[in-house]
Amino acid sequence: MSAQEDTGFSTRQVHVGASVAPASPRATPIYLTAGFTFSDLDESAAHFATGSGFGYTRTGNPTVQAVEERLASLEGGDQAILVSSGQAAVTVALLGLLDAGDHIVVSEHIYEGTRGLLLDNFSRLGVEVTFVDTDDLAAWRAAITPRTKALFAETLSNARNDVLDVAAVAAIGSERGVPLVVDSTFTTPYLLRPIEHGAAIVVHSASKFLAGQGAVLGGVIVDDGRFDAAASGHLFPHLVQIDRLGGASYAEKHGRRARGQYLRESVAPRFGPSPSPLNAFLIGQGVETLSLRVERQSANALAVARWLESRPEVERVDYVGLPSHPHHELGRRYLTRGSGSVFTVTLRGGLEAARHLVQSVRLVTHMTHLGDVRSLVLHPQSTSHSARTVAERERAGVFPGTIRLSIGIEDVDDIIADLAQALEGLASLALDDELADALDEREVVVL
Ligand SMILES: *Cc1c(COP(=O)(O)O)cnc(C)c1O
Repeated sequence: MSAQEDTGFSTRQVHVGASVAPASPRATPIYLTAGFTFSDLDESAAHFATGSGFGYTRTGNPTVQAVEERLASLEGGDQAILVSSGQAAVTVALLGLLDAGDHIVVSEHIYEGTRGLLLDNFSRLGVEVTFVDTDDLAAWRAAITPRTKALFAETLSNARNDVLDVAAVAAIGSERGVPLVVDSTFTTPYLLRPIEHGAAIVVHSASKFLAGQGAVLGGVIVDDGRFDAAASGHLFPHLVQIDRLGGASYAEKHGRRARGQYLRESVAPRFGPSPSPLNAFLIGQGVETLSLRVERQSANALAVARWLESRPEVERVDYVGLPSHPHHELGRRYLTRGSGSVFTVTLRGGLEAARHLVQSVRLVTHMTHLGDVRSLVLHPQSTSHSARTVAERERAGVFPGTIRLSIGIEDVDDIIADLAQALEGLASLALDDELADALDEREVVVL
């Protein structure tokens, strides 16, 4: 509606100046709008019947769509669905596969938020989980039951930098029609494209490397568009049965895109973790420099890891880019452009040494985040891994003296100089061995 000067104050404050100027912006505009106008009744009816065009931002938005197309292309997938956080991406992907009474096989080396989601939240929906070691292929195969609807793992994990043999685990799932879902947050599509190796669904926390600037949260789900109703339809009746109103099934309507369309049309908009178009814009801007950042971050991380490994204060460095890492060869096979920039370092001085380091870095920021342009540090035992038992933590490579680094794009000499000054301070730290041992034994340590 175009309101004229003869309308009242309250009408004009809402309507005047609301028309959209015809223009061709070079940057993707931020369509920060709840919804979109319809030109006539047929257009609105067609939108509700078929999803054509744009109606309401929860079901589609041009800024969001632009980022989705970019990410689907970079992953080599069929389509991407942008959501409000990485946690939402994992949740939506799994809700698209799992029913009450179903089962999922999961690597035990996964992000704590995902582990909690399965153990506390999906368990309440009657979903059972079996954890296996990432590289124990026999265990993956043995854990699959007739109720198993998904295999889940991270491509490169926190804290021990385990590498997933994507092709091998995907093949084990395929024998039974079970899709492999991978969280590829640590590798990004620049380092690894899991769909090319047989993964069915890739999820990311876009809050990390994809956005890169550490300003927004976001998540993405990329589907491979290879759903095979003949091989997997019996596992996913919601994709092959006629719908609630007697209409065609997702498989009949969308063929091999059925699973992705179900996530887009049913799961994401109904459970509702819609991304803000503003956040989508910032993620899209971040992705434009993804290759440059990840290349630099990987090179910096390798230099920092090598330097740390040579230091007397350091007991071990778990970085897959180092030949000393047990998955180094597997990493070379999958990560041909670099090994990422998140890894752990365990200090000989235990908890007190770790406390000293996180408190004395100046350039490196002490916070819980990763994949940022800035270098970051965190103490996993007392934060990300505090809900685990000592034995579980040790299996994950988390000890009292372990710190996690996420290396940024700064000049590498400055990062090393900052860590050096922090480590040098350790010499003057009078470690009370008994106290340190006592602290090391505690299940949960609060800094
Ligand atoms: C951060 C992270 C998540 C969760 O993402 P949010 O955007 O914080 O919700 C999931 N998986 C991995 C591997 C992560 O690092």
